[in-house]
Amino acid sequence: MRDLSQDHRWLSINTATVRQWPLDRIIEECGRRQIRAISPWRDQVAAVGSATVARLLRETGIVLSGYCRGGMFPASTSSGRQQAIDDNRRAIDEARELNAPCLVLVVGGLPAGSASKDIGAAREQVRDGIAQVLDYARSVHMPLAIEPLHPMYAADRACVNTLEQALDLCHELDPEKTGALGVAVDVYHVWWDPKLKAQIDRAGRARLLAFHVCDWLVPTRDLLNDRGMMGDGVIDIPKIRAWVEAAGYEGFNEVEIFSSENWGKRDGGDVLDICMERHASAT
Ligand code: ZN
Repeated sequence: MRDLSQDHRWLSINTATVRQWPLDRIIEECGRRQIRAISPWRDQVAAVGSATVARLLRETGIVLSGYCRGGMFPASTSSGRQQAIDDNRRAIDEARELNAPCLVLVVGGLPAGSASKDIGAAREQVRDGIAQVLDYARSVHMPLAIEPLHPMYAADRACVNTLEQALDLCHELDPEKTGALGVAVDVYHVWWDPKLKAQIDRAGRARLLAFHVCDWLVPTRDLLNDRGMMGDGVIDIPKIRAWVEAAGYEGFNEVEIFSSENWGKRDGGDVLDICMERHASAT
C-alpha cells in the first residue's frame, strides 16, 4: 500500500469540491499547491472554455484523473434515449480533448418524468446505452468508468448500485477486458457493501479506473450535498484503499466532496489545504 503521508503526488481534486471557484481559478490554485491532478465537470469546462482549460492544464502540468461525467441513459422515449447517446459521444470527445484517462458514467435512474416504477427496465436501458457508446469510446481510446452509486440514488441518479452490478455489466459488455470499460470506486457509495472486498478483488487492475474519496457523516443531513471531509465520518478509507491497491490500482486518490452547507461555503484555499492534510492523514 502506498504511503501517502509524506507527499501528495497521488492526490487529485474533483473540482466539484471547490465549486466556489471557476475552473480556471481551481487549476491555478491546484498548480500553486503542486497538486498534480484534477477531475473536472463538463459544466465547469464549458463555463471557461475547453481550449482555455486545455492550455491551463498544459501550462501547469496538471493532468486529469477522470472526466465528469457521462451516463444518464434511461429515458421514456426512444428520442430521449438517442439524445443521451449523442450527449455521451460529446462527453467522450471532450474527455479526449483534455486527455482524461476515463469518462466517469453516472448511469441514470428511472426515466425522468415518466412515473415509471420499472427499475429492471431502467437497468436494461443502461446496459443498452453503454453498449451503444462503447464501440465509439473504444475507437477513440476513451475508457468508460461505470460508477456504482449508493442505493439511495437508484430512482434519480443511478440504478447501478453495487460494485458487483457494475462489474457484471463490464463482464457482459466487455468480456475480454479490453480496457475500454471499467469502474470508478467511490468510497461514499460502496463502503457499506459486505461484498466490497470480494468485488474489488474481482475487478482487478484491468477494471479499476478511478478511486474517489470523501467521508460519510453521521447524521447525513442531505442525500446529495452533505459529504464529509476524509476523517470526519465513518468510512475506513485506508482499508478500502489498501484493497484497491492490492488489486492493482495505481492511479490517483481523487477527493470528491459535495457539501453545499459546509465545505462549499468555506474559502476555497482553505478547502484545498485541508484536503491535502486529510489526504495525508486520513486516506
Ligand atoms: Zn465519485
